[in-house]
Amino acid sequence: MKTISKCSVCKKEVVKLTNVKLFLCYECSEQNRFKKRLAKLEGNTSLAKIEVEYNQYLFNLYLQYINRYYLKYPILKQTEDLLIYLAENRIAPFTSWERIYHESRLFDQQYKVVMGLTGCPFVKIGKMLNELGVLPPKSEDFSQYYIRILKRFPSEKLKTIERFILFKKNKHLLDKTIILRLEFLLYFQQWSSVDIYSLNTVDIQNYYIFLKDNGHSQYYISQSHSSLSEFFNWCTFEKIIFINPCISIKIKRPARQLTVCDEATVNKLMSFIKNPDSDPEQAFLLALILIWGFKSEDLSFSKIEIKDNNFKIILRRKQLGTVKYYNRSQTLEFPKEPKWFYSLQKRFYKKWLAQYNQLQKAYPNYFLMLPRYRSVQALTRGTIQARVYEATMAAVSEKIPPKVLRKSCGNLHSSSSDASLLSVLGWSSEYCFRYTWVPRKYFLNSTNN
Ligand SMILES: [Zn+2]
Repeated sequence: MKTISKCSVCKKEVVKLTNVKLFLCYECSEQNRFKKRLAKLEGNTSLAKIEVEYNQYLFNLYLQYINRYYLKYPILKQTEDLLIYLAENRIAPFTSWERIYHESRLFDQQYKVVMGLTGCPFVKIGKMLNELGVLPPKSEDFSQYYIRILKRFPSEKLKTIERFILFKKNKHLLDKTIILRLEFLLYFQQWSSVDIYSLNTVDIQNYYIFLKDNGHSQYYISQSHSSLSEFFNWCTFEKIIFINPCISIKIKRPARQLTVCDEATVNKLMSFIKNPDSDPEQAFLLALILIWGFKSEDLSFSKIEIKDNNFKIILRRKQLGTVKYYNRSQTLEFPKEPKWFYSLQKRFYKKWLAQYNQLQKAYPNYFLMLPRYRSVQALTRGTIQARVYEATMAAVSEKIPPKVLRKSCGNLHSSSSDASLLSVLGWSSEYCFRYTWVPRKYFLNSTNN
């Protein structure tokens, strides 16, 4: 008969323990060995090799990061490499992700970075700097997108495109909008065999016919048209061309429609929110979107402030695009009435606190929405969407996109044909106005199976 032993750390039952003294299974004994080696690297003797204080600081951030995860031999090797690298190179303070990627390339030239096996040490440091609030989230850094899209333009056009980007940036257009416009322009450039500076109206019209024949929607065509028109307009302004070839073409915008939940669905969602037996995180999430009109971004970056067992939500403030509006105050305090809502707040807070305590964190970061594992950080748009799907599945057995819920919020607040209440939620006046006249369409779930 075989004797079974239990690992003292992971409690797994194994036939043979690797470390008999400490009662460890193979994996745990490997971890133990790696931890010991890492401890040596964390010690003062190795840190003393790095002279520059800022480099020491970066090395410590790196150590904090890797200590959160399962250690592997390649990571240890990378730690040793990084130590030498930081001892030999003076690094200017990181102020952007672009600088992180630059350092990352230099490091990669000396010591190979194996994606998936070790990852890049500077990206890890960047993530820690993001937690500290020094760098924006990696997902909001657009420098890489610009580099990638510019590479695909013919080289002789690059200077012009770069100037166009600069012009748009100076007009405070959002990066993601500029990139979207560039994509339309690139698609056109790839189609056109004619030099884009010697185009005429017929060429442009042919392009729209091509788009239509290839199954692009009317919405796509109208977006292409405004992007092209805007670019050629700027070209005439800069005297690169004389006449904007788009100017005499009129493209009809597709009729606007607001996709919202029908009344029965809204009622079901509301009773889920009010139900004391609902999952507090799911119910609160739905309430924030359906009643307070939170966007994915608000959900990702809002933080909570706790005072006397009550909490407030602090919304993130960041540079907005062309429109500057802060109709909603930055701090959102919740009412104690009605009773069901007060009890939901308390249930949510209890669950939040338990989750927060269980996560690893280098600095106090009270994000409203917390990851389920590992460390405290802002959730991505994709994770937020997955959470919303889980919540709507639990409430109405349907996957309802966050966008539809938010529009349903607008619909609820404006049903008295007065959308001014929406501006209290921080919606722009133009967007609010839309709720007074744009026809509604009910959301039908096609993925429900
Ligand atoms: Zn074990």
